[in-house]
Amino acid sequence: MKYLFTLLLVFAPLMLQAASADEAPLRLAVFQIDATPPLGSPLCNGAVQPAMEIVSPLTARGVVLLGAGEPIVLCAFDWVGIGNGSYDEFRRSIARSVGTKPARVALHALHQHDAPGSDFATEKLLATHGLSRQFSNADFDAEVMERVSAAAKQSLAKARSVTHVALGSGKVERVASNRRILGPDGRVAIQRQSSGGRNPAARDAPEGTIDPLVRLVSFWNDDKPIAVLTYYATHPQSYYGRGGVNWDFVGMAREMRENSLSGLPHIHFNGAGGNVAAGKYNDGSKEKRPLLAQRLADGMERAWQSQKKSPIAAKDVQWFVKKVPLPVRDTLVEEALLAKLQDDKQPKRERLRAARDLTFVRRMNGGHQIPLSCLKLGHARVLHMPGELFVEYQLAAQRMRPDDFITMAAYGDYGPGYIGTKIAYGQGGYETGRVSRVAPKVENVLMDAMEQLLEVHH
Ligand SMILES: [Zn+2]
Repeated sequence: MKYLFTLLLVFAPLMLQAASADEAPLRLAVFQIDATPPLGSPLCNGAVQPAMEIVSPLTARGVVLLGAGEPIVLCAFDWVGIGNGSYDEFRRSIARSVGTKPARVALHALHQHDAPGSDFATEKLLATHGLSRQFSNADFDAEVMERVSAAAKQSLAKARSVTHVALGSGKVERVASNRRILGPDGRVAIQRQSSGGRNPAARDAPEGTIDPLVRLVSFWNDDKPIAVLTYYATHPQSYYGRGGVNWDFVGMAREMRENSLSGLPHIHFNGAGGNVAAGKYNDGSKEKRPLLAQRLADGMERAWQSQKKSPIAAKDVQWFVKKVPLPVRDTLVEEALLAKLQDDKQPKRERLRAARDLTFVRRMNGGHQIPLSCLKLGHARVLHMPGELFVEYQLAAQRMRPDDFITMAAYGDYGPGYIGTKIAYGQGGYETGRVSRVAPKVENVLMDAMEQLLEVHH
């Protein structure tokens, strides 16, 4: 009898442990770091004035989801983009520090222009041609990579149980407009960039194809919110290029929301905003920045008010990954790009671009595949996509599962640059007429991959 009692004492805790391992609790950790570059650092990969003053800090922030297999990390930077070598290295570093695989780290940029862009591979290539520190400040980038990885690791100790996820959406009034206004011949007649409102014809043209909704996913511990994620597709620029480092109107909107929710951590992601900007509603004047911020914050608030909570458990959380080779545009030829990079009579700007093109082309020709991923949270699915993706991809993803909540973060791997739809390549314009690094058939590759990630079966 005494022996049996002892046995029970020994085994009872083990049995309890086994039961709880079957249904590991879902937990969420939240991290944030400062990612503001030192003065003198290149901004927007050397396309604009370097950092001369700090107008607002830049941040990197994210969440780690625990309990649903290996940890899942979602992370957003107030930078113009993280591409190629840096995209791989940052994800490897973060994954290592939280004990997961790089394929379970979704890394994104918000694409502000008075902000750094990082690509260790392009920076290294430029350095071998006497052009170091024109494109990026790689020492600083490496320091931030360590910082964000350490913060993600430290956050794990403070992870909190997630009992509910809430989903919402709200219309954003008078912010987004399509950048490409077609003429009667079906080609881009007016290129309406971020401050396009200075041109009356661009200001008066219709908004065009956009996604007017900001979507929201929040995590709760019973009645206490832990963190909120929002998604909205637009270029985030009001004005830029004067050396004033800042997080622009999207960062201001995010800060307004955090302040009105007593500091609740808010992580914002840029959707497929490659061909979308505030141009119709923005003339680049200083007054417009807080105005655009307020309109976006109002949409975020509507999304917050509209949210509906549902219980969630670890078994309701899944992570899907699909790696894809992106087809390189036929105008990009390695030998020609190398010749341009080597030619010191070329303008610096051209040589920087040639190095970026060359890095991407070599990466794709070498067989590298870019990971896309999808986080399934009950009925919600969050897609993680590369490049400056056109908004049509986001709208197509929603149509693939019309009864579910579908949202998207683009500006993952910045390597490809603009990613248009097939028809857009025949329409000309800045994005697909000149600077995109991928071929029109990229549309088939990405649409197929999105269908697989969203488990759409024909
Ligand atoms: Zn852009």
